[in-house]
Amino acid sequence: MRAATPFDEGSEDTHRLQAIRRLEVEIAGCRRCPLAVGRIHAVPGEGNLNALVMFVGEGPGADEDRQGRPFVGRSGQFLNETLARLGIARTDVYITNVVKCRPPDNRDPLPDELAACDDYLARQIEIINPRIIVTLGRISMRRWFPEGGITQLHGRVRNIGRGRIAMAMFHPAAALRNPQWRSAFEQDMARLPALIERAARANEAAARGEALPAGVPHPGDAD
Ligand code: SF4
Repeated sequence: MRAATPFDEGSEDTHRLQAIRRLEVEIAGCRRCPLAVGRIHAVPGEGNLNALVMFVGEGPGADEDRQGRPFVGRSGQFLNETLARLGIARTDVYITNVVKCRPPDNRDPLPDELAACDDYLARQIEIINPRIIVTLGRISMRRWFPEGGITQLHGRVRNIGRGRIAMAMFHPAAALRNPQWRSAFEQDMARLPALIERAARANEAAARGEALPAGVPHPGDAD
């Protein structure tokens, strides 16, 4: 199963690559909010620009801050292993966070910090154009599922317009802390391959100009 579509070096993909590189440079120098003060590196995100799936976590931790890459610590390892068990390569997905700089002592990002950084995430979504956005943890979940707690809403799938769905999941760090949440995380993740298959079929149908299979969000859907 491919969780990304092939990259075409000679076309629109080149423009998207340039756009994401420009965005990374902008994020690296960003001082829009106080989180810029304590960071070693801003962590824009990384992954396949043709990913069908984008994972959105909360913010960089200590390992991510040191390396400038998302999900490289213990919870990142666990995420990678969980994806690999499902036949999904990390190199086929895109991974980022709602804030790109590490909050001190790993506290929750504040509303002003989330608001200041949101434009970067919106632009990443615009450029990469994923079919499926998986929120990892309650902070990123609230961007698309503002109405409740993660213990009630994890596993929920929502059509968010522009041919995209969002799915809420526990953060891998939370899954590592609590066996019950781990089991919920693994069950929710196990639904991803079928969603990816459906998303890939939708992209193929759209490329051929055909009607999309029933139940698949259409790129023309309203936000
Ligand atoms: S968290 Fe976002 S808005 Fe704040 S300084 Fe970092 S990149 Fe800029």
